[in-house]
Amino acid sequence: GDPRPVDLLAGLDPEQLAAVRAPRGPVCVLAGAGTGKTRTIVSRIATLVGDGHVSAGQVLAVTFTTRAAGEMRTRLRGMGVVGAQARTFHAAALRQLRYFWPRVVGDAPWDLVEHKVRLVGQAAHRVGTSTEREALRDLASEIEWAKASLVAPEDYAAAAARARRDPPAAAELVARVYAGYEALKNQARVLDFDDLLLHTAAALEENREVAEEFRDRYRCFVVDEYQDVTPLQQRVLDAWLGPRDDLTVVGDANQTIYSFAGASPRPLLDFTRRFPEATVVRLERDYRSTPEVVSLANRVIGAARDRPAGSRLRLVGQRPPGPNPVFAEHPDEPAEAAAVAARVKELVESGVALSEIAVLYRVNAQSEVYEQALAELEIPYLVRGGERFFQRVEVRQAVAAIRTAAAADPEGELPALVRALLAPLGLTDEPPAGGTQRERWESLLALVELAEELAAAERGAGLPRYAAELEQRAQAQHPPTVEGVTLASLHAAKGLEWDAVFLVGLVEGTMPIQHADGDDAAVEEERRLLYVGVTRARVHLSLSWALARAEGGKRYRRRSRFLYGVIPDNDPAARVPATRQREQGGGRAVERPKFCRVCGDALYGIMPIKLGRCSDCPAEVDEGLLDRLREWRHERSRALRVPAYVIFTDATL
Ligand code: ATP
Ligand code: MG
Repeated sequence: GDPRPVDLLAGLDPEQLAAVRAPRGPVCVLAGAGTGKTRTIVSRIATLVGDGHVSAGQVLAVTFTTRAAGEMRTRLRGMGVVGAQARTFHAAALRQLRYFWPRVVGDAPWDLVEHKVRLVGQAAHRVGTSTEREALRDLASEIEWAKASLVAPEDYAAAAARARRDPPAAAELVARVYAGYEALKNQARVLDFDDLLLHTAAALEENREVAEEFRDRYRCFVVDEYQDVTPLQQRVLDAWLGPRDDLTVVGDANQTIYSFAGASPRPLLDFTRRFPEATVVRLERDYRSTPEVVSLANRVIGAARDRPAGSRLRLVGQRPPGPNPVFAEHPDEPAEAAAVAARVKELVESGVALSEIAVLYRVNAQSEVYEQALAELEIPYLVRGGERFFQRVEVRQAVAAIRTAAAADPEGELPALVRALLAPLGLTDEPPAGGTQRERWESLLALVELAEELAAAERGAGLPRYAAELEQRAQAQHPPTVEGVTLASLHAAKGLEWDAVFLVGLVEGTMPIQHADGDDAAVEEERRLLYVGVTRARVHLSLSWALARAEGGKRYRRRSRFLYGVIPDNDPAARVPATRQREQGGGRAVERPKFCRVCGDALYGIMPIKLGRCSDCPAEVDEGLLDRLREWRHERSRALRVPAYVIFTDATL
C-alpha cells in the first residue's frame, strides 16, 4: 500500500500544492511572512520522500538560524520524515568538513576558533590600530562581512567602497588587520565560522572524488529564508549542486535582515533568470496571523522605500478576526517590563501556553529587565530555545554523569535519582534569579522533567533506560520541551511564530538601532526587522516603548519613527500624528499617509483611494463591505460637501 500518511497534502492551498507537487528540478516560492513557505517545503520534502523520488537521507535542507533549523526538524518529524537533514549552512558544512577533512587536508581536523576577538586583537595590535574591545568587535564583524562577501584582504578597500561600507577604521588598516587575522588563525590551526563554508566549497570545487561522493549522497536541496543568502553561502550551495538543479528555495525579500552581514535577496529575486525553467509560486494568503496583525504588518512594510520588484506582495489574512494590536508608552523600562510581565500573566491565566508567548527585542542586552520582571511574577522563561540543547556544557556534563551512574544501575525512583545527580551541576531547588545560572538551571530541569515523563510512561524505567533515551534524543536532535516564555532577539525570531508576541523597546536609538541612523539602507533593514517581529504573532500583539531607561529617569527618549503611520489614529497612543517627512523645494514637508482600508498598505502622495481601497489592492472584498463604504461615502460627501473623490484615511473610516 501507499506508506504516505494521507494528510500530507491536506489543507494546502492550490499555490502551495503547486510547489509541493512540482516535478524535480528548480522550484522557487516567493511569498510574505506566514503564508506557509516553510510548511510548503516541509510538505514537499515529505512528498518527494513518500513518493520514493528521493530517500530521506538524500535530502539536505538548510536555513539560517539554529532555531529555524530546529523548527524545520520538528515539522519534518511531525510528518513522519526521519533522517532528512535540516541544518544551518554552518552546521551542514561543519559536518561535511569533518568527514572530508582527512582526505582533503590530510591531517587531524582543525578546531573552531574559540577567542576570535582575541585573534583580531593581536592582528590589530601589530598593525597599530585601536585594540579597545568595542573596536575589535567592529573589526571582527567587518572581517565577517568581507569573508561572507568573498572579498580577500587585498580587495577589501575597493570592495568596501563599492558596497558603501562604513569601515570601523581606515579601509587600508582594516585590510591589514584582516590579513593578519587570517595568518594568525592559520598558524594556530583553527577555523572560524566562515572558514567552514570556504573550505567546504573549496573541497567540492577542487577535489573531484569528494564532489562525486557528496553528489551521490545528496540529491535534493532545499533552502528556507533564501532572501538572506550571502555570496559565500551561495558558493557553497553551488558547490553542493554542481551541474544539477534539484533546488527548492523559498523566501521573502521583505524579510532580508542580514544585509549588514553581506546577505542579499538578489539570488532569490533573480532565481528565474538563473533557472528559466523553474516552477515559480507566489503565495499571498496569510495563515498565521489575525487580519488585525496582517493589516499592521502590511502597514509596517508598506512604508518601506525602494522595495525591489518582486517583493511587493501583500498579505491577505485568512484567520478569524482577533484583538487589535496594542500600542503602549511607558515612563521607563522597568515599568514597560512590569506591564509586559503582568500581561503575560493574564494571558497565561486565560489559557495561553507559556511556550506560546514571546518577548522580542532588538539587542540581547534588553533581556535583563524582562528576566527580572518575569521572575518577579514567578513566570518561567527561556532566553534560548531548544536548539543545540545537547551541545550545551551543562547538558553534556549531565549526560556524562548520568551515563556513569547508569553503569552501576542503582534502581531508586528515576526522577529523584536524576535530581540527585544534577544537583552538583547547578540544579538548586529554587530557580536562580536570572542570567546564565538561570539558563543552566532551566536545561537541567528539562532533563528532570524528561525523567518524570519517562517514569510515568514506562513503569520500572531506570537510569540505564533513561541514559539510552537521552542518547537516542541526542542522535535525533530531539531536545526535551522546556516550558517557558521565550525571550529572543528579533533576528533569532525569524521563521518562528507564537500566539502572543511582545515587541518591546521601540524607541529611537534601539529600533532603529543607533548606528543605522542617517544611513537609509540601514534604516530600511531595521524596518524589515520590525516587520519580521510583527509577523511572528498569531493573535496577540503588543508594541511598547519607554521614555526613560531607568526608573524615574529623565524622559528624553523618543518612540521609534516606525510607529508613525502604523498606530491607528483612533488609538490613544497615536497622539503624535502619523507623518513622514519629505524633502520639498529646499524645505521639509510633513505628510500623513493614507491607508488602504482593505489591505492596510500605506500610501503617500496625492493618490485617490477609491472607496477606501488602494488602486492595486490585491485583496478580494465582499460586496457587502463595498456597499457600506459607498453609502458611507455618499453621506459623508454630502455632509462635508467634498468633491467626487474623498481620500479616506483610517481616521475617517
Ligand atoms: P515566515 O516567512 O515567517 O517564515 P512562512 O511563510 O514560512 O512564514 P509557515 O511558518 O510555513 O509560514 O506557516 C505559517 C503558519 O500557517 C503555520 O502555523 C502553518 O502551519 C500555517 N499554515 C500554512 N499553510 C497553511 C494552510 N494551507 N492552511 C492552514 N494553515 C496553514
Ligand atoms: Mg518560514
